[in-house]
Amino acid sequence: MNIHEYQAKELLKSYGVPVPAGKVAFSEPEAGAAAQEIGGSRWVVKAQIHAGGRGKAGGVKVVDAIADVKKTADAMLGTHLVTHQTGLEGQAVQRVWVEQASRIVKEYYLGFVIDRTSQRVTLLASSEGGVDIEDVAKTHPEKIIKVIIDSAIGLMPYQCRNIAVAIGLKGRLVNQSVKLMQGVYQCMVERDALQAEINPMAVVDCDGDEKLIALDAKLNFDDNAIYRQKAIMDLRDLAEEDPKEVEATSHGLSYIALTGNIGCIVNGAGLAMASMDAITLHGGEPANFLDVGGGASPTKVTNACRIVLEDPNVRCILVNIFAGINRCDWIAQGLIQACNSLHIKVPLIVRLAGTNVEEGRKILEESGLQFITAENLDDAAAKAVATARG
Ligand code: ADP
Ligand code: MG
Repeated sequence: MNIHEYQAKELLKSYGVPVPAGKVAFSEPEAGAAAQEIGGSRWVVKAQIHAGGRGKAGGVKVVDAIADVKKTADAMLGTHLVTHQTGLEGQAVQRVWVEQASRIVKEYYLGFVIDRTSQRVTLLASSEGGVDIEDVAKTHPEKIIKVIIDSAIGLMPYQCRNIAVAIGLKGRLVNQSVKLMQGVYQCMVERDALQAEINPMAVVDCDGDEKLIALDAKLNFDDNAIYRQKAIMDLRDLAEEDPKEVEATSHGLSYIALTGNIGCIVNGAGLAMASMDAITLHGGEPANFLDVGGGASPTKVTNACRIVLEDPNVRCILVNIFAGINRCDWIAQGLIQACNSLHIKVPLIVRLAGTNVEEGRKILEESGLQFITAENLDDAAAKAVATARG
């Protein structure tokens, strides 16, 4: 789960990470009042969407009059901001963050990700901040410093100092970096974040005094741990998420929208992935990932069909069930219920195996509805791809 920059900054601030003073605004007058309250003479108006690359796309504007804060907020709110991370349709801007403008001396990169090979949090830092780290990785991989953090002892101050020196920080900024890095790390661990990115972490000039602060903040949280992170759950902005995915979650289904035309309804994440692979292997493209889970009732199967069909690109649906806890007869009943109540027009390719498979097949056969049945995963994928093409 992603949250907005301003939410990440407010959270990180509670962990001692220095961030510029700011306020969120949902309207032009709120933006003006925010600037007034923050004080000073220069502000930055930042579009709040769950995507980066806003700066280059016109979603980050520095202004030096309250009237311009209002004008800029008004121009941003209600528009769709298209950045290289949003896709062509962009993301609707429904809130802006007004913050104190900083005099930037230099921008650095700081990121924490989970390295699956070492199964540990890895800190990435670079002297090349403010730009896409992927570009730095391509052009100057030697400028990215990596440190693997031992989860038993956490991020040690000496590790932070080594990193700070390696990216070129000097003097008091080195100690400031320890506080900043440890704050982000502590937040990440305590709040079950999967990723934390401060890009840029910047040295700024405060009346001749240099300070290290987080000028941007991105946090991504582990959906599987969100049940124990109520405060994080409250930060969820449903407007930023695919409505199909939101609806699926409310029915206990794991659904992820993709770009192909073959809908998938499968039990188990592993089998769902294998089904998508099989479709791809046969030259097709899945429209979604969907795991109905164990013990899927007919109602759950109907809900799954409805959500899959909300995607207008879907030309057929591959149903692949290897029932252990599930029951093929329930799945079959669910499919018939879905066909009748949703008036499904696209062909369904059904592969059933496991618990109550004979009953399941019989129910499908006796329904008088047209299902394309398949013997195994490979057969099902081949038939789905052929159907989508035809
Ligand atoms: P994004 O990563 O989506 O482009 P950022 O928050 O990183 O958005 O902002 C883009 C750039 O705008 C930063 O690299 C920085 O140069 C500038 N910037 C952001 N916030 C401030 C600020 N408070 N004061 C001055 N410049 C800022
Ligand atoms: Mg940024």
